[in-house]
Amino acid sequence: MEERGSPDGDPARSLEQGPEGPETPIQVVLRVRPMSAAELRRGEQSVLHCSGTRTLQVSPPGGGPDVAFRFAAVLDGARTQEDVFRACGVRRLGELALRGFSCTIFTFGQTGSGKTYTLTGPPPQGEGVPVPPSLAGIMQRTFSWLFDRVQHLGAPVTLRASYLEIYNEQVRDLLSLGSPRPLPVRWNKTRGFYVEQLRVVEFGSLEALMELLQLGLSRRRSSAHTLNQASSRSHALLTLYIDCKTAQKMPPVGPGEPPVGGKLCFVDLAGSEKVAATGSRGDLMLEANSINRSLLALGHCISLLLDPQRKQSHIPFRDSKLTKLLADSLGGRGVTLMVACVSPSAQCLPETLSTLRYASRAQRVTTRPQAPKSPVAKQPQHLETDMLQLQEENHRLQFQLDQMERKASGLSGTQMAWAQRNLYGMLQEFMLENERLRKEKSQLQSSRDLAQNEQRVLAQQVHELERRLSACHHHQQGPGPAPPCPCLMAPAPSCHALPPLCSCPWRHLCPLCRAPLAHWACPWRERHLQQVLGPEAPGSRPLSARPPPWAPPCSPGSAKCPRERSHSDWTQTRVLAEMLTEEEVVPSAPPLPAEAPNTSPVLKGGAGVQNLAQRLEALREQIGSSLRRGRSQPPHSEGARSPGQVLPPC
Ligand code: ADP
Ligand code: MG
Repeated sequence: MEERGSPDGDPARSLEQGPEGPETPIQVVLRVRPMSAAELRRGEQSVLHCSGTRTLQVSPPGGGPDVAFRFAAVLDGARTQEDVFRACGVRRLGELALRGFSCTIFTFGQTGSGKTYTLTGPPPQGEGVPVPPSLAGIMQRTFSWLFDRVQHLGAPVTLRASYLEIYNEQVRDLLSLGSPRPLPVRWNKTRGFYVEQLRVVEFGSLEALMELLQLGLSRRRSSAHTLNQASSRSHALLTLYIDCKTAQKMPPVGPGEPPVGGKLCFVDLAGSEKVAATGSRGDLMLEANSINRSLLALGHCISLLLDPQRKQSHIPFRDSKLTKLLADSLGGRGVTLMVACVSPSAQCLPETLSTLRYASRAQRVTTRPQAPKSPVAKQPQHLETDMLQLQEENHRLQFQLDQMERKASGLSGTQMAWAQRNLYGMLQEFMLENERLRKEKSQLQSSRDLAQNEQRVLAQQVHELERRLSACHHHQQGPGPAPPCPCLMAPAPSCHALPPLCSCPWRHLCPLCRAPLAHWACPWRERHLQQVLGPEAPGSRPLSARPPPWAPPCSPGSAKCPRERSHSDWTQTRVLAEMLTEEEVVPSAPPLPAEAPNTSPVLKGGAGVQNLAQRLEALREQIGSSLRRGRSQPPHSEGARSPGQVLPPC
């Protein structure tokens, strides 16, 4: 014995509960039609046996092992239409539809298994002849219940209906004013799949709705068939649209539960058939193939919906019009009930087993029932809990967001503008400061080059003076006629800048141009100096008149100070000194603070330059005194002195 698809729990309870959670399985009820008169005449025995209220046992002819199937409810041939209506929990579906859910009830099974009978009762016995109330199917019973429910509500509820069939893969409007014509099936994000231009008829009474049903049934395609004298050759969908105007006046499902509008859809599928077995030809075969194709697509979608890994991926609902229009019922947000119908005949066993397997799988398909959002719509308990948690989280996040926004708005008001202005101002200041420093650096580099040139000249002069002084001493000490002055033997590049070294007659000749000089007033003196020092040479002023460039600053109030140095001058001088000693000066360093007047900064290398200037002055004095002594005393009487003894130490 084999059991398949057996949901736990009491079938009545599960059916009456409706949507239980995010994942709600399709409810499947099995109905076994009674043996027909023809089957009884043939002496056939039923191969299906109900075991309890939920299990069906299949006893294959020839003594094979029994096979058992479990469903939400199993109803044998002895059950009345009213039993079926109650067991299927259709009233609960109606209540859910009134609360806004999209509910679907569809019958499924082999041709002649009782699908149409279950939904609408036996076929009409004649034009305008109504179905006896005792034989009325699920649809009529639901209509009656619904009107009774709405009347007791005391609230305005708008009821509308549409009725269509899918015949040979064409959608036809069974309620159209003219002759039915094919209608397109469209899709959009809000509505999902829908039939364009489908007539939706508003009705206000049970009689009006019954007339609409009769109109549709009479228009529906059916043919005489070997298995069914009035075999439906199309899938038919009748939909009730339940629109509750005022949420406060909705019919309460439970205590204090106001429902909102929804849909209630009844689907009577055309039966599958084995064309070879039924011997269908011509239009019948074409219809059968079309029916089978759409049922195959439906089965394929159900198979894919059963696969938890593929359920989230693509489901080929677009493969047929039927699957398009059942998409929401099968895998969407609807609440779905399937009534699987089977024949007890042994001749139909293969089809019956196929239907049973199919239905077993279908009851494992789940949907996510969801009603249209309403501020007062009551959600199931767990959804309500989730919603409360989410609302709480939302409030918390909103609170945090408000706090952040307040902080941000506080800043953006005054502080942000100030900060932005300040930053921008600082940036501008830094740019200006950089530009100023760049210029200052360039000036300092020029000054440095100038000073280096001057230093070189001074060093040469000192060297030359020392050389000449030494030669003059030697000349004054030597006997006999005076030899030519050694200062003329070697070219002295800056001779014009130098004072006379001795009293010999050659001392008044310029060593460069050999012009006789009177008091060193050489007419090309400036030009010669420029040749030696360059155009910017500081030779325009006598050396004695020029202050030593790297001397420490004198005190601002001192009489000896040629001019009072400004702070920037001093900074420049300091930087220059550092450059000369190849010390790095940070360009962006702030200006030096004002130094105390008597505190001179220590200049690296400055002492050497100062020594050079001092040495030069000492040499001048030494030469002058030497000359004076030379004029007043014989040369041989003057004691020899080394330059090192005269010159100050470097
Ligand atoms: P289907 O729609 O599955 O092709 P039908 O609903 O048209 O089959 O039923 C086929 C025949 O069987 C009809 O004549 C119908 O009256 C009859 N029938 C089906 N189910 C029952 C039932 N439970 N009790 C009595 N007759 C039934
Ligand atoms: Mg039918």
